[in-house]
Amino acid sequence: MDRNDFDVIIVGSGAGGGTLAGHLAPSGKRILILERGGWLPRELENWDAGEVFVDNRYVSKETWYDERGKAFQPGIHYYVGGQTKFYGAALYRLRREDFGVPMAIFSYDEPSTGGSIVRSSTLEPSATGSLVYLNARPTVDATLERVKRAGGKVEGPAVQLPNDIGWIGFFTDTEGNRVGLHSKTNG
Ligand SMILES: Cc1cc2nc3c(=O)[nH]c(=O)nc-3n(C[C@H](O)[C@H](O)[C@H](O)COP(=O)(O)OP(=O)(O)OC[C@H]3O[C@@H](n4cnc5c(N)ncnc54)[C@H](O)[C@@H]3O)c2cc1C
Repeated sequence: MDRNDFDVIIVGSGAGGGTLAGHLAPSGKRILILERGGWLPRELENWDAGEVFVDNRYVSKETWYDERGKAFQPGIHYYVGGQTKFYGAALYRLRREDFGVPMAIFSYDEPSTGGSIVRSSTLEPSATGSLVYLNARPTVDATLERVKRAGGKVEGPAVQLPNDIGWIGFFTDTEGNRVGLHSKTNG
């Protein structure tokens, strides 16, 4: 094998390139990381927010041009490790246990309100408490099918309500909670 043969060439050693290289390394593939910047010097000014963010000590001296040809300073840092050396002080990686309790968050589009399901040792599943209706996407029928596949118990077919209110359906989840579903259309 030629010394210059590589399976993967990664351009940039920032959070993106560095993470990719770290992930691929155990595969045994020959990986080349190309980085245009040098090593960040270890010096007292690294720890000085004024030097780093006000005086832009480590920012590139390049001039870039916007779409109207106006010159600007890009605020970019070229160093091994990329921008994260300067901006990535807090890279949050929320894990399941960080919530304290198992929690599933429903996806939603702004400005809609989202929701979540939480399990806690202080809460008990219930089929007789408040009945919470979830927005069923794309339809109640499709969601009830998913419920069946996931082991929930479906309570009869979806029912159409008058006055264009839409369709509703009910099921009992695997923990024993009775849940309502609603969708504007069905079928
Ligand atoms: C003002 C600001 C504040 C931020 N604050 C935070 C924060 O607090 N927490 C957080 O998690 N994230 C923060 N970020 C975001 C974080 O810095 C970026 O998401 C992250 O650095 C992106 O990683 P990257 O690998 O895609 O790119 P970069 O980190 O930009 O890495 C790209 C690398 O490629 C190199 N490179 C560029 N051109 C070439 C070339 N032609 N050949 C070879 N190498 C090249 C560069 O030198 C650099 O090392 C902030 C970003 C900004 C702009």
